[in-house]
Amino acid sequence: SPLVHPEDPDINQPGNTGVLTTSLRKILNWSRKSSLWYMTFGIACCAIEMMATGASRYDLDRFGMIFRASPRQSDLMIVSGTVNEKLADRIVNLYDQMAEPRYVIAMGACATNGGPYHDLYNVVNGVHEIVPVDVYVPGCPPRPEALIHGLLQLQEKILHEGLPAARVS
Ligand code: SF4
Repeated sequence: SPLVHPEDPDINQPGNTGVLTTSLRKILNWSRKSSLWYMTFGIACCAIEMMATGASRYDLDRFGMIFRASPRQSDLMIVSGTVNEKLADRIVNLYDQMAEPRYVIAMGACATNGGPYHDLYNVVNGVHEIVPVDVYVPGCPPRPEALIHGLLQLQEKILHEGLPAARVS
């Protein structure tokens, strides 16, 4: 993947040809979007499609994305299923333990707004009610192609992020 985004006006300026210039922001964003490690974390039926997406046929490894069994080593949570009230605290706990910057994909109708269980007494009507969501992937369940499209959207979003605020100790 290019370090410089093709739509970046910098690369169209006269005199910039043949010389690679970039910024810390671009290098960081390119590194982050090229090494998204997602948590081994499936909730319901959508998780089957998520696992299929990560397996050899669809092969998420080629995007630098691999499953991690610890939230400490993960910067992406794919919420793949129905979030019920009992599970909500655990999801927030896992999210809080993830490395920053961290990202969340709401995969499927249930994670987006409760889906077929919308307004059921024990179901959270969308995971955005408990953690911030970066990308929503529609479907019940979404096919691997749809999840990959959502992941590419997330990569695009990361490419345009600013630098994190400097820590003041
Ligand atoms: Fe299952 Fe559909 Fe909900 Fe996914 S969106 S967890 S497939 S009911």
